[in-house]
Amino acid sequence: MEIIHVTAECYPVAKAGGLGDVLGALPKYQKEAGHIAKVVMPMYRTRYLYQQQWEVVHKGVGNLGNQAFDYTVIKESANKNGFDLYLVDINGLLDREKIYGYSDDTERFLSFQIAVTDWIARWEHRPDVVHVHDHHTALIPFMMQHCFAFRKLAGVPVVLTIHNAQYQGTFDWSKSDYLPVWDPWKTGLLEWDGMINPLATGIKTAWRVTTVSETYMLELSRSSNGLESLFEYEKGKCIGILNGIDTDVWNPAADHYLDTQYDLDSVTEGKWQIKSSLCNTFGLDPLKPLFIYIGRLVGEKAADLLPQVIGDSFFHIGRSMNFLVLGSGEPEVEAQLEWIKQLSWGDYNVYIGYNEGLSHQMYAGADFLLMPSRVEPCGLNQLYAMRYGTVPVVRKTGGLKDTVLDIGEKDGYGITFQHASVGDITHAIFRAVQLYENPVRFDEVRRRMMTLDFSWHRSAQSYLTLYKSLK
Ligand code: ADP
Repeated sequence: MEIIHVTAECYPVAKAGGLGDVLGALPKYQKEAGHIAKVVMPMYRTRYLYQQQWEVVHKGVGNLGNQAFDYTVIKESANKNGFDLYLVDINGLLDREKIYGYSDDTERFLSFQIAVTDWIARWEHRPDVVHVHDHHTALIPFMMQHCFAFRKLAGVPVVLTIHNAQYQGTFDWSKSDYLPVWDPWKTGLLEWDGMINPLATGIKTAWRVTTVSETYMLELSRSSNGLESLFEYEKGKCIGILNGIDTDVWNPAADHYLDTQYDLDSVTEGKWQIKSSLCNTFGLDPLKPLFIYIGRLVGEKAADLLPQVIGDSFFHIGRSMNFLVLGSGEPEVEAQLEWIKQLSWGDYNVYIGYNEGLSHQMYAGADFLLMPSRVEPCGLNQLYAMRYGTVPVVRKTGGLKDTVLDIGEKDGYGITFQHASVGDITHAIFRAVQLYENPVRFDEVRRRMMTLDFSWHRSAQSYLTLYKSLK
């Protein structure tokens, strides 16, 4: 089977969050299962680009409204990631250092989608499935089916995976002429709430829609930033498939970001060494349990509650634990997290920014990972944490609900709570400290977690079964 993934992120080329991790792993597992898996993404100017060998495979011309643009498709020669990687270059639009956050993101991702669809339409053969991810690529099924220029692709199945429905890529009708000419009878497919909404269009036009956990799929018809009724209407073609993790990249026994590697036999000693060095770097006391938070500092992740949670934990539970935060996001949250450093007695620190290496050291050196998310489509952090023997303390939502079983349950291995409120989170931290103070039980929970299998094997198979059902 030939599967074409079209995406805005793919680790290690360019990653802003879980989308990048998924696209760096799923195609690899599909290739291992004997299929042709290709990843097509924009050619940002990231470090990875300059470190590899590339060959030009196609040059073409697209149109964004009445503005023609040249595009070039290059392929990584050595297939270093275990799948075929293609980058699309469009001068003036995609040649940027960052993935998102520019005022012309609409034009950037529209031109990318037009270029990719144009390129695929020129192949002599047809792929078995085109798999698009999130709103940045969600107009592709519409273009393949209803834009006259690409109609020869109308019979190719398209799967849309929604990694995060909060972001929908909405833009005004005044930009509608950027799209290639489409069948006017189909205009309604572009429309949602008076705007062009790429995610809504993708949901309407993809052959199947998947989300990255079953619980998130159920939650979307109750809360999805305005798309609730659409999810309810289209639920017949929607399915939840849990993400997996890349166990080659996330392996404490072979992680090149760690000075000390460890496995199940050496976990206690290995984690202690990494924790000691981490605490030393951040001025924390390694004898106390270490709670970490890693992620975007945004409302969706309930990061705004962290300052008060940390303060209340110290006040109510006592200064018997450390907190270390790694993330970037909303400026007020960043500023508050920086500000409360003044209140630290050597038990709190924060690193504002993105740091892949530090994140690995934190997953390895910590005792507990805090994820109070208001919305969590799948969540990968808790899966990485468990593989590194770090107990997840999570709100029961989305993928967190599907992957973390509370220690109060039979064979449980995590700590869960119901509400994204300061009270509930602080109480969960209290339970975690109690667990830490019982070393035999703590060790048992840690070992149980580390033997769980959250690798991609099962989920990759679910996607293949889905693709096959579309033939
Ligand atoms: P989301 O995609 O919603 O941000 P996920 O849990 O699906 O959340 O994935 C987050 C990924 O991004 C994980 O690999 C996590 O380690 C990584 N990550 C998030 N913020 C940072 C950061 N500041 N530094 C390093 N890695 C980060």
